[in-house]
Amino acid sequence: MLNIVIFGAPGSGKGTQSDNLIKTYGLFHISTGDVLRDNIKRGTELGATAKAYIDKGQLIPDALMIDILASVLDANKEAAAPGVIFDGFPRTIAQAEALEVMLQERGTAVSTVVGLEVPEDELMRRIILRGQQTGRSDDNEETVKNRLAVYHNQTSPLKAFYEEKGLYQAIPGTGDIAEIFGRIQKAVDAVK
Ligand code: AMP
Repeated sequence: MLNIVIFGAPGSGKGTQSDNLIKTYGLFHISTGDVLRDNIKRGTELGATAKAYIDKGQLIPDALMIDILASVLDANKEAAAPGVIFDGFPRTIAQAEALEVMLQERGTAVSTVVGLEVPEDELMRRIILRGQQTGRSDDNEETVKNRLAVYHNQTSPLKAFYEEKGLYQAIPGTGDIAEIFGRIQKAVDAVK
């Protein structure tokens, strides 16, 4: 199995480059943000819980998020057999530790972590533009500030966590989308 964690701040291009990874490697894509937004759209109980956090730019509590990820993995065993692109998960050390256990229990492991590195002013510009284009409710200036602060405090320590395990590959995330994907492809092919 080829299990890729696509990692980076909000606006770093995780979703866009996940689409390229799916096309090239035929892997199963799990975007935890998409799973939550889909629940909000369908009016589920989980959606109502998630919305309160998302609208404030805060993270959904680890225990809940870990349960959600396990159920998505279990519900898609066949589709996930070639490997999984984890997009937006893990976002905390506790989630990364849980992912390690979850994959171990399923006889597999994280193959590589692709870290999209983008300067802060560029992140802000991209997210505000996405908000204008898609109407995504948490892509407004106030919420974005919180999301970036949450990223720095809770998520960015994962870079060192995965560096220590020799799994982190830094990818400059600015420039042409195809050019960035070329860098990602090189990183993924190196561990295939
Ligand atoms: P995303 O689409 O990945 O930017 O996620 C949008 C929002 O969903 C985040 O700002 C969080 O509120 C929530 N979310 C998504 N993934 C996670 C996660 N792994 N842990 C906690 N909250 C998450």
